[in-house]
Amino acid sequence: MEKSKPISLTKATIGVDIGGTKIESALVRLDGSIATSIKINTPSNPNNIIQAIYALIDGILLERKEFIKGIGVGAPGQVELHTGKVIYAPNLNWHNVPLKELLQKKYSLSVFVDNDVRCAMLAEYKFGAAKNISNFFCVFVGTGIGGGIMIKDKVLRGITNSAAEIGHITIEKDGSKCNCGNYGCLENIASGPKIIEYVIEMLKKNRSIIKDIVNNDLSKINIDVIQKAFELNDKVAIEVLKRAADYIGAGVASLINILNPEMVILGGGVIDASPSLFEIIKKIIFERVLNISKSNLKIVVPKLREHVGTIGASLLIES
Ligand SMILES: [Zn+2]
Repeated sequence: MEKSKPISLTKATIGVDIGGTKIESALVRLDGSIATSIKINTPSNPNNIIQAIYALIDGILLERKEFIKGIGVGAPGQVELHTGKVIYAPNLNWHNVPLKELLQKKYSLSVFVDNDVRCAMLAEYKFGAAKNISNFFCVFVGTGIGGGIMIKDKVLRGITNSAAEIGHITIEKDGSKCNCGNYGCLENIASGPKIIEYVIEMLKKNRSIIKDIVNNDLSKINIDVIQKAFELNDKVAIEVLKRAADYIGAGVASLINILNPEMVILGGGVIDASPSLFEIIKKIIFERVLNISKSNLKIVVPKLREHVGTIGASLLIES
């Protein structure tokens, strides 16, 4: 008689998603479901972040080490792929952190580190909006603007693993200086903080319901507030979202003309908080792209919300 097989976790992977405000670690099964997850606030001192990551992984590893295939990590910045070194992560204040080496030494497991936006794209590809889609790209608008490109089921990385940096395409020839050193970058005009900055500038000269919503405390302005004002037909909110959408739409439409994808996923904190912004961007994209690329083009929001970063990071071990 054949013995029944025990329910096994043989192919589970640890995913770690390092964000500027939270770090999450999870044990992710092959089907993308989460077995366990832990989340903590990101320490403000960059030197303490590694210890925090160790603590999270230790928590996941308790009793389960023999089942783990490896550790995948998504980091919010530039990652050197072959060494797994985080070259620069502005939100963590990290420079040249040899993350892969540190984790491999400590846990003797295979470790793979990549950019967090790319991890989110992998999760959408495997389990989300882009399931069964071979040619698509993602644009995530949040504190910055990041992207990921999938061509024929392969991630486009470029020669220095820095492909798809849509946030740093020049969208305004004589625009202001971006953190990257260039002038007129998309991110420097249409990221969440830049949208809020523009609202505050507009409020100096215009009447708006936004001031009432935040009780004149301008530090409380966020994208939710702008969305709410937009729904109430507020002129400042309409102008601000239209302006951001114009720039994002122009950037995305240019990329569509280059790549001719089947789908574009528009996500990130700003788009999540403003369905109106999503709709205006979509309209602008369809006004701008070549007719021939419109016929099979879908512009959608991401399908996965919770754990998208950790699920995506866990997929690095397979890819
Ligand atoms: Zn830039």
